[in-house]
Amino acid sequence: MALFEKGVIAGESSGRSGGLIEAMLSDPTKMDLIELSKQRWSELSSITGEDIGFLRRGSTMLFGKNKADMLGLCEGWVESVKGLPNGGARMVSAAEAARMAPGSTSPLAGGLTCPDDASAEPVYSAPAMAIGARKLGAKIYQFCAVRGLERTGGRISGVVTEKGTVKCSSVVLAGGVWSQVLAHDLGLDLRTLQCFAKGASLHPFEGPDYGTLSIVADHEVGWRKQSDGGYIVWEFTGIAPSFRSYCSTPFSSCRPSKPMPLH
Ligand SMILES: Cc1cc2nc3c(=O)[nH]c(=O)nc-3n(C[C@H](O)[C@H](O)[C@H](O)COP(=O)(O)OP(=O)(O)OC[C@H]3O[C@@H](n4cnc5c(N)ncnc54)[C@H](O)[C@@H]3O)c2cc1C
Repeated sequence: MALFEKGVIAGESSGRSGGLIEAMLSDPTKMDLIELSKQRWSELSSITGEDIGFLRRGSTMLFGKNKADMLGLCEGWVESVKGLPNGGARMVSAAEAARMAPGSTSPLAGGLTCPDDASAEPVYSAPAMAIGARKLGAKIYQFCAVRGLERTGGRISGVVTEKGTVKCSSVVLAGGVWSQVLAHDLGLDLRTLQCFAKGASLHPFEGPDYGTLSIVADHEVGWRKQSDGGYIVWEFTGIAPSFRSYCSTPFSSCRPSKPMPLH
């Protein structure tokens, strides 16, 4: 098995996500899948032999008094996931909310918490998957973009990379936000919504540690204490640019300059 990566392992979404593995406010039909996902993430360290920073520290969403109408929606969601694996979902009182977000400049009306929700550190977990795959015999090529596929008699017979063609009989397209571009070149219409979001990782400091905490009030922000004692922080707003701008961007201009060393 071989993986071709146009840039570096963990250089895109998987290395930069919030690391949240959550049931919180998810579609009730997905609850079994989310629970299975938490289970699989909890096993990843022992499978790969690498630390991934997996923790079940819970997730909480608090609402300002100006967003108190959201509490009714949350109560409806808690009701809809009763009897399902729901991360221990329950409502949070205004007093508890004030304790969880000391110093909040917005008065809080209450919130929703799922104490069994989990997180992992993206900067560890994405490389851990690559290192683990390599231990199991996979070959990983960084700085090697896939340009297209070769077919013989209508069946897949090779992958065309920027460094040459590699013979194979099956291919998995796992290009994240770029999958749509490759699929488009293959004549396939892969409908995905591409979205940019802002986040930052802060150096360690003493502060609140209630797993993942989001506040929906005058501003919509969230944070999670990282396993190094720092914080990942984010704003909820996402921007979805047009597909056309992706199609005109050459793959090679969208990558860092050095490969990631995989030990
Ligand atoms: C800011 C942010 C926060 C997020 N937070 C969360 C969260 O808390 N919880 C959660 O569950 N999800 C979160 N997500 C979503 C999650 O990160 C993504 O859904 C997930 O990482 C996608 O993984 P992937 O392997 O499909 O894609 P990626 O991680 O993007 O990997 C695809 C790889 O394919 C490579 N590639 C693309 N085209 C080619 C090509 N032609 N040739 C070779 N290589 C190619 C890319 O360089 C890339 O490295 C977040 C996303 C963002 C952007």
